[in-house]
Amino acid sequence: MKIICIGRNYAEHIKELNNERPDEPVIFTKPDTAILKDGEAFYYPDFSSDIHHEVEIIVKINKMGKNIEEKFAHKYYEEIGIGIDFTARDIQSKLKSKGLPWDLAKGFNGSAPISEFVPKTKFADLKNLNFNLLVNGDVKQAGNTSMMLYPIDTIIAFVSKYFTLKVGDIIFTGTPAGVGAVKVGDKLEAAIEGEKMLEFEVK
Ligand code: MG
Repeated sequence: MKIICIGRNYAEHIKELNNERPDEPVIFTKPDTAILKDGEAFYYPDFSSDIHHEVEIIVKINKMGKNIEEKFAHKYYEEIGIGIDFTARDIQSKLKSKGLPWDLAKGFNGSAPISEFVPKTKFADLKNLNFNLLVNGDVKQAGNTSMMLYPIDTIIAFVSKYFTLKVGDIIFTGTPAGVGAVKVGDKLEAAIEGEKMLEFEVK
């Protein structure tokens, strides 16, 4: 499976990092070795001293497809969840300043903690989903999918022009404002519509 992520998908997050608003989706990928299942500890890597949390709604592809039309995109996923797109911000800043690819900053081991997936039918409207991240019990990020620049179906249509989507692929749909550093000992909890779905510790 592959992990496809969209960057700069929430205006307030673009502002906080002083990034430009993109005129098409900003896409990057992580290897499957980035996955951490719910409850597994994240081990702080020694190559960074500025690992940031980015909480994101995630989507699991359940049907192979390419060149998917946006109006049919909803047929390619049945389940959603929540995940963290851990980012080594110090490495990313260095790479960005040189115009180099972000892979090392985004795709390292454990950089993609994910919840279990739940049927999307559990939610009334995927375009109006509240989600948040608590660090040691304090709300650090709170978002709503209505604020996405590119909604889920648009992302799927765009990405599938370039990458064939396969069963089990996961899409990270971007983070709202409030990203920040984590440290050893932190306890992270992520929830959709108030229901805790992902919980783990930084070790
Ligand atoms: Mg992200």
